Amino acid sequence: MLSCRDIAKQASDHIDKKLTFRQSLSYGFHLLLCGYCRKFVGHLRTTIDLSHQLSGQDQLSDEEAASIATKALERAKSE
Ligand SMILES: [Zn+2]
Repeated sequence: MLSCRDIAKQASDHIDKKLTFRQSLSYGFHLLLCGYCRKFVGHLRTTIDLSHQLSGQDQLSDEEAASIATKALERAKSE
């Protein structure tokens, strides 16, 4: 079984769907059993989503950026 350290190392590959089928199964199994890693991966996914939404938006006002961040955090809390 993968360790929590393995989960952290492979987290971005998991989110980007770059793991093999076998790796994905092991990864999913660990997440099923480990609340710590589920939270970690959820927070990482939120951070990546947020950076994608904000990238290329240099003209964003502070209010617009805060609104996008607030929505991302609300989405993360509801997952
Ligand atoms: Zn874990």
